[in-house]
Amino acid sequence: MKYTRSSALFAAAQEVIPGGVNSPVRAFKAVGGDPIFVKEAKGAYLYDEDGNTLIDYINSWGPMILGHAYPPVVNAVVEKAQKGTSFGMPTAIETEIAALATKMVPNIDKIRFVNSGTEACMSAVRLARGYTQKDKIIKFAGCYHGHSDSFLIQAGSGAVTFGSPNSPGVTQGTAQDTLLARYNDLAHVQEIIASNTDQIACIIIEPVAGNMGCIPPAPGFLEGLRTLCDTHGILLIFDEVMTGFRLAAGGVQQLVGVNADIVTFGKVIGGGLPVGAFAARAEIMNHLAPLGPVYQAGTLSGNPLAMAAGLAMLQALDGEPAIFQRLADKTAYLHEGIAAALNAKNVVHTINRIGSMISVHFHQNPVVDFETAALGNNDTFKKFFHGMLAEGIYIAPSAFETWFITDALTYEDLDTTIQAVATVAASL
Ligand SMILES: *Cc1c(COP(=O)(O)O)cnc(C)c1O
Repeated sequence: MKYTRSSALFAAAQEVIPGGVNSPVRAFKAVGGDPIFVKEAKGAYLYDEDGNTLIDYINSWGPMILGHAYPPVVNAVVEKAQKGTSFGMPTAIETEIAALATKMVPNIDKIRFVNSGTEACMSAVRLARGYTQKDKIIKFAGCYHGHSDSFLIQAGSGAVTFGSPNSPGVTQGTAQDTLLARYNDLAHVQEIIASNTDQIACIIIEPVAGNMGCIPPAPGFLEGLRTLCDTHGILLIFDEVMTGFRLAAGGVQQLVGVNADIVTFGKVIGGGLPVGAFAARAEIMNHLAPLGPVYQAGTLSGNPLAMAAGLAMLQALDGEPAIFQRLADKTAYLHEGIAAALNAKNVVHTINRIGSMISVHFHQNPVVDFETAALGNNDTFKKFFHGMLAEGIYIAPSAFETWFITDALTYEDLDTTIQAVATVAASL
């Protein structure tokens, strides 16, 4: 495959955009080479600026769970756009999607829409602080909650890929209110709570981690957090920006039967448009302005195009457990095929999987937290990434990212992917 046009576009982009990209994970910094410029996409495939076709395992980092250019979403957006793209006034469709989301997700009465997952998590923590009148938060090493200041303390994903877990520009004052725990280590959380009595507003967690590869919670871990929160008057925030409407219609709360106090959304909930949201019981949500004192706002929040896309997406997923089963089956098939192909060439690896999330780690140890995720052999990953790309398979350009399976993938696509792994494995 040739990428001359992509490379030329990247050179031009670098002149006027820092690093040539509007989000760092899009650059190929961790794997080397120039990023690929996409021209269009349909279903499971990307069509790039050089005329190559790629099978897509990123899917816009999660939103395109039913494939690119999914007709009901595209039609909803086109229809809305003709009637005006923003008003800064209430519209009926905001209530429609809010009613559907609160019906699909357990344990939430009210939801507020914002423009990104970052905004959702930032607002959720402010709400938790306002509600509990406490300042400190606990987050887990390797979990990513967007790029707002409080979270850029050992954030996973892009922040780790670029070797800057703690970003300059985050003040000491902010950083000292973020306490860091080990994922899947309940005793560690307990210790932190014990040494910060009555100071902790919330624990925020990816209830299935997806930003240090895919790491499911150990049995009892989320239940244990719930109990600790109840005992100590701490709010439990599930960041379901990645997992919401992906692992089940009701997200991880539904999947594992553990209730969160505040839930954040992004990615799938916007159907590919810029949408985030946070939700909770009415008693908590009523602390938000204009009802309560906790301020939160947005000129384009609840934007009609974004709401139309999100509503069409949620309607497609509502009451359709078969979709989630199909996704899980496809992911399991892929898992088995990749494992067999790597084993055939004695490539040391661990594969983590849950529902439609999967990650391949080039290390023999179980990957259960950030430390074990970081053990993976990055040189092997780089070769794997470029090898797969040469075979027409697009996975995330970082060893810390999850692959997102879309329902648009056929078993033929999965076989093509497994065959590509077999070819690439021979050169690892
Ligand atoms: C993607 C992501 C975010 C940030 O969402 P943006 O829309 O990129 O701001 C937050 N939390 C999790 C778990 C994510 O995966």
